[in-house]
Amino acid sequence: MIPRRPLEMCLWRTRPLTRRSLFALLPAAAATAVTAAPPAGQPQRTPPSAPAALPGASTMPNGDPTVNPALTRRLDDDEIPTSDAEWRKRLTPLQFEVTRKKGTERAFTGAYTDTETPGTYRCICCGEPLFKSGEKFHSGCGWPSFNAPIDGVKGKTIAEHEDRSLMRLPGFGIRTEVTCRRCDAHLGHVFNDGPPPTGLRYCINAASITFDPAPAGGTPAEIAPAGDKPAGEKPGR
Ligand SMILES: [Zn+2]
Repeated sequence: MIPRRPLEMCLWRTRPLTRRSLFALLPAAAATAVTAAPPAGQPQRTPPSAPAALPGASTMPNGDPTVNPALTRRLDDDEIPTSDAEWRKRLTPLQFEVTRKKGTERAFTGAYTDTETPGTYRCICCGEPLFKSGEKFHSGCGWPSFNAPIDGVKGKTIAEHEDRSLMRLPGFGIRTEVTCRRCDAHLGHVFNDGPPPTGLRYCINAASITFDPAPAGGTPAEIAPAGDKPAGEKPGR
């Protein structure tokens, strides 16, 4: 079990945060780390001066399905790249930095932060279904937030890892990184300040996921997830 801390992920960054760029961002991170998310359930607020969009953000194409087949379907195991060179060919620069280098997109720039359309969110790298719209909520933190993965908090689609990368910054500590278990794509972090029934907030980079709207009158998930456990289970880790 990795301990979770009620920590805010909101850093107002001018570029994806990576381990390489972390040192340069320390002052800004320290100054903004105390920014608190509003209580769960409150409407999301857009800041008065929203930062400019980055490639891969809401004003840019999500990618080319002819280049990245995961945009349209779940890949077979032998179709999943194994090298950074292969990933770079398929992903946008932001998607690569976030998913393969553990970066973080700027708050309030992601394509799905405000999305309420019924449907399924899949891994941008391998196409695995990860989250459903039913577990999505407005956290106000600037990133898409979910109450549970598609197969529940004890499911198999999401892996957790101890993240000590920001633990020395004020207001931070040991965080819990979440990744796609199938392809190891970095997705974001999970915090224990979410709403019922799980009390969890999966804070996910929009650049790490792609969205399939539910067909009219149909069910949200057309592609079966790896696990079969229902969402909303009580955390037992
Ligand atoms: Zn994946």
